[in-house]
Amino acid sequence: MATIAELGIRYRSGEATPTGVVRAYLERIEALNPQVRAYFTVTRDTALAQAEAAEKRLKAGAPLGLLDGIPLAIKDVICTKGIRTACGSKILEPFVPPYDATVIARLGAAGAIILGKTNMDEFAMGSSTENSAFFPTRNPWDLGRVPGGSSGGSAAAVAADLALGALGSDTGGSIRQPAAFCGTVGLKPTYGRVSRYGLVAFASSLDQIGPFARDVRGAALILQAIAGHDPLDSTSTEVPVPDYTAALGRGIEGLRVGVPAEYFIEGMDPEVEAAVRAAIDVLKGLGARTEKVSLPHTDYALAAYYLIAPAEASSNLARYDGVKYGYRAAGGKDLIQMYGRTRAEGFGAEVKRRIMLGTYALSAGYYEAYYGKAQRVRTLVRRDFQQAFERVDLLVCPTAPSVAFKLGDKEDPLQMYLCDVFTIPVNLAGLPGLSLPGGFTATGLPIGLQLIGKPFDEATLLSAAYAYEQVTPWHTRAPELA
Ligand code: GLN
Repeated sequence: MATIAELGIRYRSGEATPTGVVRAYLERIEALNPQVRAYFTVTRDTALAQAEAAEKRLKAGAPLGLLDGIPLAIKDVICTKGIRTACGSKILEPFVPPYDATVIARLGAAGAIILGKTNMDEFAMGSSTENSAFFPTRNPWDLGRVPGGSSGGSAAAVAADLALGALGSDTGGSIRQPAAFCGTVGLKPTYGRVSRYGLVAFASSLDQIGPFARDVRGAALILQAIAGHDPLDSTSTEVPVPDYTAALGRGIEGLRVGVPAEYFIEGMDPEVEAAVRAAIDVLKGLGARTEKVSLPHTDYALAAYYLIAPAEASSNLARYDGVKYGYRAAGGKDLIQMYGRTRAEGFGAEVKRRIMLGTYALSAGYYEAYYGKAQRVRTLVRRDFQQAFERVDLLVCPTAPSVAFKLGDKEDPLQMYLCDVFTIPVNLAGLPGLSLPGGFTATGLPIGLQLIGKPFDEATLLSAAYAYEQVTPWHTRAPELA
């Protein structure tokens, strides 16, 4: 199993060719995807055409892109020109975007090859990929367990080596939590770091696109390709993009690492806690100076998120009305009935729950009590982080309170929401967060370690993650799939 950087070297030395590699991946997908169900759509023909183009560039000695010939998977929430984009929902079917998201255009410019679109929780609402309207994805480490969510298909594809890397989106943890459950690296960039033009919106003040890869260098390379200002997304910033791979070798001698007391809670899996504490010792051994910090409003973050995110979702999802996109229910006697039937038939239970929660929180008379208050809590959560970052360079904590759970295990929505207690505050504060493999349970399930950084300081996250990765074996393990 190669990494993104290794494959690039093999291409350049002539040991591997893009068409050979893409064919091998397509074969592997054919053999293993029926078990893992990571992909919703496999784009065989365009992948082969992209591979041939990459091969021509290589043969001609043309200047190569950052990801030339590298096969990737894309979460089905990101628009791909000419390739159906369903967002895990029946209401978008059959939607074929007439344009590429900016991240897709940038991956194309970097020479990357797209193998397909990955399964996800409907409209990115969920933590297990069981909310997909089509089928659940399975965790490659244990097919009876969930891969996490909502970017479960992307995480599982990378973990099962059905792609070398992937894109996901993270509104409350949807990149980091599945990365933790599947034993891959997953990075949610700072709000504004990556363009969301062409990302189907869930909660616009929280959504970010980011990479999955098997190792830290791979995530750095993908981020390098997609980061930066985009005039098509007014929330993307003009902050210059540093050289992320150059930052990797920086080391962490003297780095001040904060350990937030509120992220080690009662009821969390003791194996997760032990692994994270051991990882903190590893960072210390590498020369980092650790200290306890407090993020006192952590307890309120989940509640604030479940007002803000559904409120924004209820507004964003108003556009699915049977007129502008995709599905339309038959038999309505007038426009209002058609709207009602389309949405009743087209949306799944979790999406409806969010729309109702959000509409209620925004309704006259309740707006101040719910939405207004949640926004104020959000400010307090953000301030907690600002204060901590006056003393430390980054924070280290678990990505999730548990490891991957069994399919069907969390029927109560609230239990599902609690999966994101350690990831949601990062989105509320707009900060970058990275999850990387930080150990395994006795039964062989991956444990995620989360690093949280200052705004636009992905470089420090990546360099600390890289330093840790170089002295630990976790990222070299792979699930056994027959
Ligand atoms: N699990 C969280 C939710 O359901 C976060 C999802 C996400 O980050 N897209 O809202």
